[in-house]
Amino acid sequence: MQDQKASAPRVSFVSLGCPKALVDSERILTRLRAEGYELSRGHAGADVVVVNTCGFLDSAKAESLAAIGAALKENGKVVVTGCMGADKAEVLDAFPDVLAVTRPQDYESVLDAVHEAAPAPHDPFLDLVPEQGVKLTPRHYAYLKISEGCDNSCTFCIIPRLRGPLVSRPAAEVLREAEKLARAGVKELLVISQDTSAYGRDLRYAPSDFRGREVRARFLDLARELGELGLWVRLHYVYPYPHVDEVLALMVEGKILPYLDIPFQHAAPSVLKAMKRPADEEKTLERIAAWRRAVPDLALRSTFIVGFPGETEADFSYLLQWLEEAEIDRAGAFKYEPVVGARANDLGLGPIAEEVKEQRYRRFMEKQQAISARLLKHKIGKRLPVLIDEAGGGALSPAAKGRAKGDAPGIDGVVHVASHRPLRAGDIISVKIERSDAYDLFGTAA
Ligand code: SF4
Repeated sequence: MQDQKASAPRVSFVSLGCPKALVDSERILTRLRAEGYELSRGHAGADVVVVNTCGFLDSAKAESLAAIGAALKENGKVVVTGCMGADKAEVLDAFPDVLAVTRPQDYESVLDAVHEAAPAPHDPFLDLVPEQGVKLTPRHYAYLKISEGCDNSCTFCIIPRLRGPLVSRPAAEVLREAEKLARAGVKELLVISQDTSAYGRDLRYAPSDFRGREVRARFLDLARELGELGLWVRLHYVYPYPHVDEVLALMVEGKILPYLDIPFQHAAPSVLKAMKRPADEEKTLERIAAWRRAVPDLALRSTFIVGFPGETEADFSYLLQWLEEAEIDRAGAFKYEPVVGARANDLGLGPIAEEVKEQRYRRFMEKQQAISARLLKHKIGKRLPVLIDEAGGGALSPAAKGRAKGDAPGIDGVVHVASHRPLRAGDIISVKIERSDAYDLFGTAA
């Protein structure tokens, strides 16, 4: 056993891009570990390197190409997958020596390429994979991907071309994965897809058998079932289709977190029209107000694009004013990039000068920072449940770091928690909030 283990082929893995790509990486790694491959910490000494690329923006492509170049230099045997795999020629033009370029979600082709570069070991004793698979996130939270692809056609986005149309997983399959994660100690599920509220449309919301009962592949039904697992359930990439209002009731019941990640991208009607955003409607502010009345502690997170072609100063001011009224708790902004293949480049709308984009980006972030600081002040004096991400506390250690229900990992703020007793990652504790800054909260374990 020892000798065989020592000879197991080693794979070095680079995972770039969004949480959806991260889930793809986890699936590939789970399969490789199940086949007995070892994971290598660095490229040197690995038998093969897999680079899971991101092609969403040109800057992400540049980062992906740099990662491929570095892997070729350090190792030489490189398999490329992910979003850039949809445009094989671009990768091969830059790096003709890569072993294979496979499309996003084409797990079989990645595995085939790895098998060819470094044949799989044949030892069943090596097939030791944790029940929940290999996770790249800390043990206490996990991304749960409910569908692939997207049926929308936002003009700035090439994801549908890269990842194809919407393909939802049957509800029972998603729920079984969620159960496994819960059994493995996961405390928080982050539900992701390209368009979470469209879940099941391609399946015509067909039911599947889960624990002897039929569960429909519908956004609300799935959210309700996930809410029964007793975990924190956080919904990402939700579009404000009318049926989204229905999940608010689950938040009121405490079944899912009072959190919605809705990538609004803009607010000005003419820009939204040019972007061809799904579920765009003028009454969004009224809907948000109604949501907040129903769920007063609802946290809204969103992303916005500044400098979209044709965006006037009036459009941008409208966006800032809208942001103020909507009181979006957490927001990120991107400067528009004319990604090759995006239809927005051909709309005949004037491109925005880089310095104007930069200036609008700064104005956006200043506005957002002020809103965030103001909203966080309202939390001072409250006791909030906090999920600890980084251990700390006790006599000798610095404060632990965690997140309240309104904060997703990696993108939102954190809660710095002072405590007499040591706190471990994965603990959920009550914290008395004592102060705040622009993005974070500070408090003491109650
Ligand atoms: S909803 Fe729009 S931005 Fe999101 S993946 Fe689909 S096309 Fe792209």
